[in-house]
Amino acid sequence: MSETGSTEARAPQPPSYLARRLSACRSSIRKKALDGHLVTGRADQYYLTGFDGEDGAALILPRRVWLLTDGRFAEEAERRCPWASTLVREGALSEALARLVRRHRLARIGFEPAALTVGTHATFRKAIHPARLVASPRIVEPLRVLKDAQEIAQLRRAIEVAESAFRAVTRRVRPGMTERELAADLQHEMIRRGATGASFPIIVAVGSHSSLPHAVPGDRKIRSGSAVLIDWGAVVGHYRSDLTRMLFVHRIPPRFERFYNCVREAQETAIRMIAPGVRMCDVDSAARDSLRQAGLDDRFTHSLGHGLGLDIHEPPRLGPRVTDRLEAGMVVTVEPGVYWPGVGGVRIEDDVLVTEAGCKVLSGLSKDLDTMVV
Ligand code: ZN
Ligand code: ZN
Repeated sequence: MSETGSTEARAPQPPSYLARRLSACRSSIRKKALDGHLVTGRADQYYLTGFDGEDGAALILPRRVWLLTDGRFAEEAERRCPWASTLVREGALSEALARLVRRHRLARIGFEPAALTVGTHATFRKAIHPARLVASPRIVEPLRVLKDAQEIAQLRRAIEVAESAFRAVTRRVRPGMTERELAADLQHEMIRRGATGASFPIIVAVGSHSSLPHAVPGDRKIRSGSAVLIDWGAVVGHYRSDLTRMLFVHRIPPRFERFYNCVREAQETAIRMIAPGVRMCDVDSAARDSLRQAGLDDRFTHSLGHGLGLDIHEPPRLGPRVTDRLEAGMVVTVEPGVYWPGVGGVRIEDDVLVTEAGCKVLSGLSKDLDTMVV
């Protein structure tokens, strides 16, 4: 094992946005009477330290941050986080953790239950005994739910890249193209524009296949008269966008036109409601009520939306039973859909920032039906 960054007094400081996040995390650690917090989730680790090496963990202490990693990521950890201390392990992560626990005389260490398997938890517990691991799911999550300016800027870039790639691909959609070809083209265009990849496996569903909300692109061919559902997003600077649009090839099947107009109306009604203090279930039911007027509410089979950021699905959730209230700084998708087995589905999805005054739709692709015809 080797260490760097141990000359604490002369260590450089983290950038101000990380310092703010660390300070909020530490105040939560103090309130829960913990001696430190072990971060094993990759997105949480990146959020707090800016280090995203796939191996490792971060240990947040009151006056120090340790990055525990292995030799493959040692250089990157030191370069990205010169202000942190790095422990490059040769043996198991549990041994490295135990060493820091003894060294700093830690007794109660918080951890994130969702980011630790039962097996790893048992190993860590044994290794650090008599120190204790305390399940603390609410240390980083409440911070990540409210996006800071740095994060909103990254989300905007992730949305811009996804939208610009979509515009480029839309111009090339032709009968004969398969779902898989369209998905690959979209992914390629996003990477060319600066994405590290797609936010999640892109959904391209032609015709009746689109009644499956999470359809996997296959060899189905686009034909004249096809309705195509596309759900995609880009990862840019670790942040993920998530959008859904429909394309209609040459003409709009009449049934889809009705579905589309109803889904659009439901989405706009829900977006108009979004403001700080509004209950999440009320936004969801605004969309559901709008679809009910068209007799389509029983065809809307999922929640209205979800938070997004470093992960594609993160809290909060706009669902029928979620009574939490929206707060300024949250970013959520608003994605009503209507799915009719054997016929097809229509979904429209945009990414919306809750602001002090109400909300701002961050995505800007047109939803006018005539622009969807290619
Ligand atoms: Zn989506
Ligand atoms: Zn989504």
